[in-house]
Amino acid sequence: MTLPPSAIAIRGLCKSYGKAEVLHDIDLEIARGATTCLIGPSGSGKSTLLRCIAFLEEATRGTILIDGQPLGFEERPDGKRVRLPPHRIRAVRAGIGMVFQQFNLWPHMTALGNVTEALVTVKGLSRAEADARGMAQLRRVGLEARARHYPSELSGGQQQRVAIARALALEPAILLFDEPTASLDPELTGEVLNVMRDLGAEGMTMVVVTHEIGFAATVGQRIAFLDHGRVLLNGTPGELFAAPRHPRLTQFLETYL
Ligand code: ADP
Ligand code: MG
Repeated sequence: MTLPPSAIAIRGLCKSYGKAEVLHDIDLEIARGATTCLIGPSGSGKSTLLRCIAFLEEATRGTILIDGQPLGFEERPDGKRVRLPPHRIRAVRAGIGMVFQQFNLWPHMTALGNVTEALVTVKGLSRAEADARGMAQLRRVGLEARARHYPSELSGGQQQRVAIARALALEPAILLFDEPTASLDPELTGEVLNVMRDLGAEGMTMVVVTHEIGFAATVGQRIAFLDHGRVLLNGTPGELFAAPRHPRLTQFLETYL
């Protein structure tokens, strides 16, 4: 019996900005239906890796398979790496949603308007269909009662939950989060992490860059520790955090905890 492909399979991924290589030969499998947390020092390449998975950045070498399908580039049998045509890139990207540290909500649109905008303009849904789907997603993040509020009338935690609802409305198979609570006051991070915990429990495949080590240790089924553009460690929280700990991880934890 052949195993189903990983949600994300990263092979030999390198990324350079100009002459500076910031990701070196990354191999990483992201399991389906699980929450994988990416941790590591500032500048270790976490955002760059996530942005490559979202195809917001193009890797310089290597391949990324989403559900077995090549993203952006395909490795031919002769070893040549070729760029895929736009329609094949779009089809694979459509399965990936992303939530950023900055919520990036439209200030002149209500919460519901923010969630439904792409449903109308990109997906071509009718206003009524988009509103129904948008309300369902706002309910999922506990913000149904705030649907008609503008971002300025919402707390940072609520704004980030709207951003999560907006990503969910496009029905991605994979959700990527880049430090989703880093802009929030400490008392507001819990409500966002709870929404993410619930999504994980529902079986959403998530990759979460976070400095919330407690969240990574309890909600993350897998943790990858990046250091200087490499995946230094990759395993379950138990495997990573159990003694004897890798000295670089210990050093990192002492800096961030
Ligand atoms: P992290 O998210 O772990 O803090 P990043 O992925 O943002 O790390 O950055 C990894 C490295 O790549 C850093 O050295 C950073 O300065 C560099 N870098 C990130 N984005 C760019 C860019 N657009 N142009 C040039 N260098 C960049
Ligand atoms: Mg970053």
